[in-house]
Amino acid sequence: MTPDVIVIGAGFSGAVMAERLAATGKKVLILEQRDQIAGNCYDYRNEAGIMIHQYGPHLFHTNKPEVWDYLSRFTDWHPYEHKVLSRVDGKLVPMPFNLNTLDRLYPKHEAKSLSRLLIARYGEGAKVPILDLCDAAEPALEALGKLVYDKFFVNYTTKQWGVKPEDISAAVTARVPVVISRDNRYFHDKWQAIPKDGYTAMFRKMLASNSIKVELNVDATTRLRLDQNTGEVFFDGSVFNGHVIFTGRLDALFNYVHGELPYRSLQFVYEEHSEDFYQPVTTVNYPNEHAFTRITEFKHILPVDTVTTTIVKEFPQDFDRHDPKRNVPYYPVFNDDNQNRYNDYRALLQAFPTLTVLGRLADYRYYNMDDAVANALYVYRTRAAVF
Ligand code: UDP
Repeated sequence: MTPDVIVIGAGFSGAVMAERLAATGKKVLILEQRDQIAGNCYDYRNEAGIMIHQYGPHLFHTNKPEVWDYLSRFTDWHPYEHKVLSRVDGKLVPMPFNLNTLDRLYPKHEAKSLSRLLIARYGEGAKVPILDLCDAAEPALEALGKLVYDKFFVNYTTKQWGVKPEDISAAVTARVPVVISRDNRYFHDKWQAIPKDGYTAMFRKMLASNSIKVELNVDATTRLRLDQNTGEVFFDGSVFNGHVIFTGRLDALFNYVHGELPYRSLQFVYEEHSEDFYQPVTTVNYPNEHAFTRITEFKHILPVDTVTTTIVKEFPQDFDRHDPKRNVPYYPVFNDDNQNRYNDYRALLQAFPTLTVLGRLADYRYYNMDDAVANALYVYRTRAAVF
C-alpha cells in the first residue's frame, strides 16, 4: 500500500494520530524503532502471570473527560488508585506529604498545631509546592517546609535529576505537592484506572484497523531526509507526497545540527521474590537511602494469584544515545538553555508544511499519559485539514 500518512513512533501520540486518521479513511504506515508497540507503556505478563511494565510503572489518571471517553473505546478498566509510601527516619509514611504524614513524624500536640496552621494559611484540600512551603512567612511553616524538603525532596531529586530542586523547573517538584488533607492517594483525578488487559492490549485495539500497517524495528530517522531549501520530505530517497507525523526526538530528526537535547534516563532492575507480597503498597520511595529512587511491586497494580512477586528498582542516570544501557530518553531536563536549544529545533520545522511533530519527545515536555492523549487529539482536530 502507498500510505497517505507515515507516523513515526507507536507510543500514545503516534497511536492516537494513526487511529484518528484511519477512522477517516486514511491509509497509515507506522514506523516504530523498537520491536514492540505502545512506547514506554509497553507491558506484558511474565511466566507467573504478573503484568510487568517494561519501562517503569504507568498509572493512568485523568480529569479530562475526552481522554477518558476516547481510551474507553479500546479497553475496559481495572479501578486503581495509586498509593505511595516514602521511607523516612526508618518509617514508611504517606507520600505526597499530607496531614497523616505530619502525624507520623511529629509528637501529637505539635502535629495538631502545625495542621491547624497549614489549614489556616492554605485552606483545607490545598496543594502546596514544596518550594513555596519553604518560603512561607510563618516561621513554624517555613521550618516545616525545610524539614519536608530535607527529608523527602532534596536527596530524591538529586538522585533523579542530578541537581537540587531549586535548580530544575519548579514544575517538576510541584507534581508532588504537600497536600493539606488526609487523602493518602498519589493522584486526585476523577478517573484513575489501569487497562484491564494491560496497555499493550489497548494499543493493539487502537491500531487494529485494516488501514493501519505497523512496521517494527525501523529507525525512521535514517530513512527520512528533510530538505531545508525546498521544504520537501524524502522517504527512502524519494519525495513523499503525503504527510509525515513524527513523535521522536527533534535533535535526532535534524541530525543534531543544534547539538543534543539533554535527557535523564533510568535503569530498571527487576527482581522476583518468593513471597506473596514484598511491600505494603505499589510504590515505596527511598529519598535518603540507596542509589535507586523507588521500588514498585506490580501485583498491587493488576492483582493476580501467585506465590511469587516481581518488583522493579529505578536507578536514575544520564541519557547517552550511544550507550545501550542508557539510551532511553525518559525525562527532558528542564532549564532555559535546553528550552532555547529546543526552540532552535522547533524553528527548523517551519520550512516543512507536510511534517507534523508531537508527543513527549518531539515537544520536549514532561507529559503524563493523559496529556499525551489530549495533545494528540487536539493536534488531530486542529490540523485535520493538512493530513
Ligand atoms: N519527588 C521527590 N521525592 C519524592 C517524590 C518525588 O523529590 O518522594 C520529586 C522529584 O524531583 C521527582 C518529582 O518530584 O522527579 C516528580 O515526581 P513524580 O512521582 O511525579 O515522578 P515520575 O513518576 O514522573 O517519575
